[in-house]
Amino acid sequence: MQEDKQRSILKCVRCGACRSICPVFEEFGWESFSTRGRMLLAKGISNGMDVDESMIDSINTCTTCGLCEQMCPAGAKPSDVFEELRRDLVSMGKITGTQLELYNNTLLTGNPLGEKRPDTSFILKQRDVPKVADYVYFVGCLGSYRFRETALKTYDLIKDMGVTVLSDEVCCGSPLLRTGFDADELIRHNLEQIEKTGAHTIVASCAGCYNTFKNDYPDRFNVVHITEFLAEHIDELGLEMLDITVTYHDPCHLGRANRVFDPPRKLIIAVCDLKEMRTNRENAKCCGGGGGVRKGYPELSASIAKKRIMDVPDNVDYMVTCCPLCRTNLEQASAVPVIDLLDLLYMAQKERLKVA
Ligand code: SF4
Ligand code: SF4
Repeated sequence: MQEDKQRSILKCVRCGACRSICPVFEEFGWESFSTRGRMLLAKGISNGMDVDESMIDSINTCTTCGLCEQMCPAGAKPSDVFEELRRDLVSMGKITGTQLELYNNTLLTGNPLGEKRPDTSFILKQRDVPKVADYVYFVGCLGSYRFRETALKTYDLIKDMGVTVLSDEVCCGSPLLRTGFDADELIRHNLEQIEKTGAHTIVASCAGCYNTFKNDYPDRFNVVHITEFLAEHIDELGLEMLDITVTYHDPCHLGRANRVFDPPRKLIIAVCDLKEMRTNRENAKCCGGGGGVRKGYPELSASIAKKRIMDVPDNVDYMVTCCPLCRTNLEQASAVPVIDLLDLLYMAQKERLKVA
């Protein structure tokens, strides 16, 4: 295990401040599924303790939400430790069936969903996209295979701002990196594709892709989230106010991990009323989908989503987020429709077009 992660383990003074906020502990109530319990396991495993199946589950059920790091008075970084520990476990052959499936799917098809990879991007088939541009819109796997309508709206919103897309985009690598694998092949492939476009900046619309480009890719391009990009170009969007009220879910890997809190809010309040969720910004609770938990432990993931929905204020028309994984996970639990922020902005543009 890397030295900084070892140091994090040593920093943990077992105070338990993280226990009450870990969404997984909230579900199971067992010490081994709390942050503190996992830190103890990490110490044992890094000192050569034998690993059994329940320990693998304990380490793999962390959603990497980062709430424990936010709260830790000792300055430990538990989710970094658990990600590193997953890498160690994978290298020891200690993996679950769903981890193996995720790995095989992603390497065989270029996406964790195992969908057949098209010969070219669906956006290129439907829109006239320049081959060379300053910005690359990285669509992401959920945008490419599950939320194509939102991805097309996203492209339409930004197409006049010097943006292209990749003809052969593959997964950014986030699902592999977060579950203990390396993603060198995917990273190399995407970097080659991006270089061909001449772009200097990657615009990501998924919190997971954004976090991965920002923190796991070599530092060759600027990286912005679509909400940062659009907040900068807000005057060019021609937005109109809608007569609705929404609430906003901060994706953990956009908000807490990378401190992108204001741009999404700037965009939302430009088009409608915003009522904050009970926990928000750096204290926002997790949707339950991250860190491979939705794939590996779907029931746990759904229970965490149900708890997150309890934070939705009364009398809102939509729950808005700007990560397709959060959207997917929250949709299964929410009575209020869950939409992407890009869908909301598109609605506000449609209003303007209707008036015109
Ligand atoms: S809050 Fe920090 S120091 Fe306290 S038990 Fe959790 S990880 Fe350890
Ligand atoms: S990152 Fe989130 S899920 Fe993981 S141990 Fe910390 S609080 Fe729990």
